[in-house]
Amino acid sequence: MSNPASPMVDWSDWRPTIDALRREFPILDRKVHGDKPLIYLDNAATAQKPKAVLEVLNRFYTESNANVHRGIHCLAEEATEAYEASRKTVASWLGAPSEKAIVFTRGTTEAINLVAHGWGNKFLKPGDRILVTEMEHHSNLIPWQMLARRTGAVLDWIPVTGDGVLDLSRLDEQLASTRMVSLTHMSNVLGTVNPVRDVVARAHAHGALVLVDAAQSAPHSLVDLNELDCDFLAFSGHKLMGPTGVGVLYGRPELLEAMDPFLGGGEMISKVTWQDATWADIPYKFEAGTPPIAEVIGLGAAVRFLQSLDWKVFHAYSDALTRYAIAQLESIDGLVVHGKAPDRGGAISFSIRDLHPHDLAHFLDQDGLAIRAGHMCAQPLIHQLGHSALTRASLYLYNLPEEVDALVRGILRVKEFFHRVLG
Ligand code: PLP
Repeated sequence: MSNPASPMVDWSDWRPTIDALRREFPILDRKVHGDKPLIYLDNAATAQKPKAVLEVLNRFYTESNANVHRGIHCLAEEATEAYEASRKTVASWLGAPSEKAIVFTRGTTEAINLVAHGWGNKFLKPGDRILVTEMEHHSNLIPWQMLARRTGAVLDWIPVTGDGVLDLSRLDEQLASTRMVSLTHMSNVLGTVNPVRDVVARAHAHGALVLVDAAQSAPHSLVDLNELDCDFLAFSGHKLMGPTGVGVLYGRPELLEAMDPFLGGGEMISKVTWQDATWADIPYKFEAGTPPIAEVIGLGAAVRFLQSLDWKVFHAYSDALTRYAIAQLESIDGLVVHGKAPDRGGAISFSIRDLHPHDLAHFLDQDGLAIRAGHMCAQPLIHQLGHSALTRASLYLYNLPEEVDALVRGILRVKEFFHRVLG
């Protein structure tokens, strides 16, 4: 995703495709606060769900609900087949070498914790370095802080420049004694798409593993394991139009084999005695207890939905809409967009002089505009930017230029209101 600056766009070629896409999302017809059409610009928090996902969830609970991997009755077999079909779908979508490399988790957060425990507890020694970046979501920071405390490992981070890109000038130095690099593919605050392939190549040259947090990039179909060449990759279903409560950890099979399980319980075992147990093969070793069955099946439907889209068109549209939104927002006096990466997605965080993000979000909500205000689960980065909270509008494939215009009009109205009231 790259965004050469030019906000003058003719949207007409895209319009039929985007209108057709919007018809797949019943929630986009909603009105809020009485008669205000919903304008949903909080997609980096979670994306809306197409009929294809809603129908699969409904059908599963209406026709095939049963537990997986244990029953030998008709419904159990149907449920297991659908659950495992999702694994195949995800594996082929990511370009994974084997379905065994796909572990279903409850989300990105659990996937990263799984690696921090299953790999980190077993293989890290005091003094080993874990390298993250200054733009991480707490999900990709706290598990490593906790691991460093448990093992005596050292946590270090790649700095971010004033433009919101990674400063890789000291990377080779930082990689000495680093065992794990864990970085986000796309920042949920700055929108920056990081040069993961380059970081992976340099990390591997130093013998370090790389985990990619793809929570924000997977929804934009930017994840190809053959290209990224990373060792682990994590994402959540709900940000790519699937259900909440489900996510994916990809791991190189040989690494997953070597790791310890994260959670213990049913279905992750091979043999159990009173004193001891042996583990099931991967990926089941990491899927203790009843998994989020309907959610996994819904995730499969969401991935199939993503696969059905013409990404040449949607990437071009998303780039144009992001550029347009940034240009329109920056035309507002006193508004600063944080993050100027040339390669970026549609998470656009900004601050406005003399206007608190929570006040702004509250007033925009009255106009039907759903945006995010706060620290976006990235407190160190937000503080680094000199703030305690920001406002974020995050775009997805179904957003329209007139929704961006409505946001800009809304912000101008709120500014005007506070100007009148506070002088
Ligand atoms: N990583 C990034 C970059 C995110 O944006 C998020 C969620 O906003 C997460 C991780 C955590 O995802 P989840 O809460 O679905 O586990």
